[in-house]
Amino acid sequence: MLHASGLPCRVRIYEAVPEIKALGVGINLQSHATRELSALGLEPALRAVSVEPVEQLFFSHHGQFIFREPIGLTAGFASPHFSIHRGELHLILLAAVRERLGPDAILTGHRVVRVDPNETNVTLHFSGPAGVAREPVTADVAVACDGINSTIRQQFYPLEGSPVYHGINMWRGVTRAKPFLGGASATRIGGLQTTNKIVVYPIRNDIDNDGNALINWVAEAVTNIHEPVDWSKAGNLADFYHFYADWTFDWLDVAALIRDADFTLSYPMVDRDPVERWSFGRVTLLGDAAHPMYPRGGNGAAQAIVDARAIATALLAHAEPAAAFAAYEANRLPATSKIVMMNRTAPPDLIIDTVERLTGGQRFANIDDVIDRSELQAISDAYNHTADARKG
Ligand SMILES: Cc1cc2nc3c(=O)[nH]c(=O)nc-3n(C[C@H](O)[C@H](O)[C@H](O)COP(=O)(O)OP(=O)(O)OC[C@H]3O[C@@H](n4cnc5c(N)ncnc54)[C@H](O)[C@@H]3O)c2cc1C
Repeated sequence: MLHASGLPCRVRIYEAVPEIKALGVGINLQSHATRELSALGLEPALRAVSVEPVEQLFFSHHGQFIFREPIGLTAGFASPHFSIHRGELHLILLAAVRERLGPDAILTGHRVVRVDPNETNVTLHFSGPAGVAREPVTADVAVACDGINSTIRQQFYPLEGSPVYHGINMWRGVTRAKPFLGGASATRIGGLQTTNKIVVYPIRNDIDNDGNALINWVAEAVTNIHEPVDWSKAGNLADFYHFYADWTFDWLDVAALIRDADFTLSYPMVDRDPVERWSFGRVTLLGDAAHPMYPRGGNGAAQAIVDARAIATALLAHAEPAAAFAAYEANRLPATSKIVMMNRTAPPDLIIDTVERLTGGQRFANIDDVIDRSELQAISDAYNHTADARKG
């Protein structure tokens, strides 16, 4: 974003891990995220390795249809919605950064441990992979995008403590299986009111000569299992498979999907309360370091991408970096704080949770007898309005 803005600057990215690898499972890039990535010219590369879903479908844990919402271009947005493997997304971004900023722009094995901003610059202190201190670096500005366990956020908020956990865990996986529902639908199934929930969507179609797809899933359950906040923590099938063992619908075999995954990851549902300030002179926070949110609306990465554009725009508009970061914060902090709170109280899952509550988890004969469609539409509209999803 900084490069594309035309701002005359030299950008360096300091990454803690010693080696960058394509890890993780699937991620949804909503239209407000692809709008920004398309402006960087990345749309063809993203499209080549992703699925472009046309709709999001909501089902009960009996597999009964509840609600349909068009997404991406189908919903009239200017930019598509892509469902993609997180590793593929990272590799596309990595290649673009190296091509545009130069092969030396990313320095791995640099874990930032402290920043010291003053009136004229900021000094960054690092440790290497073995914990040995590295040479400090001086820069005009520093943007802390070091995730939910951000060291820099902790420096400015030393008493904040760990991310907030409310007793829900998530298990994630990717499974090679035959496409379901035509291969272009993202689905939310179940609900935490009476049972469990799972989000299922394809991230790549036609992966072999046998018509298989890569299908991503995220299973959620209320549990006393308390996992560390670590992207790479392996999941244990015995902890959650039993919740879904009889979820076999005529349109999708959820149980088989979970059983057949190459591997599973386990991650707690955590966020942090919004803070009043992200910017401290020549240092500011971005992405999960600034506004970690429950992953309930497919929005954390999208908002980080929007932040990046906002920072570039602010730095271009203000000669004084501290003024630029203050402007960025004024633009983005109130908007993302609303999403953090809405992801807790009224995320898109409220649609399935509401129906489960009204039915007590029982089968229904006709969804229109359970709830008026306009009420479900209102939940969807309220979330999309807050999350910027309708402005793409
Ligand atoms: C189950 C789940 C599903 C999700 N699905 C979606 C989705 O569909 N759509 C969506 O938009 N969002 C989704 N999210 C949210 C999204 O993953 C995050 O919001 C996003 O990864 C935040 O990006 P980030 O760059 O701020 O932080 P991160 O992705 O956490 O990246 C932080 C980086 O900083 C590095 N780092 C950490 N500490 C240091 C340090 N001290 N020094 C140097 N480097 C450091 C890390 O190694 C890492 O590379 C989901 C999250 C979860 C848990």
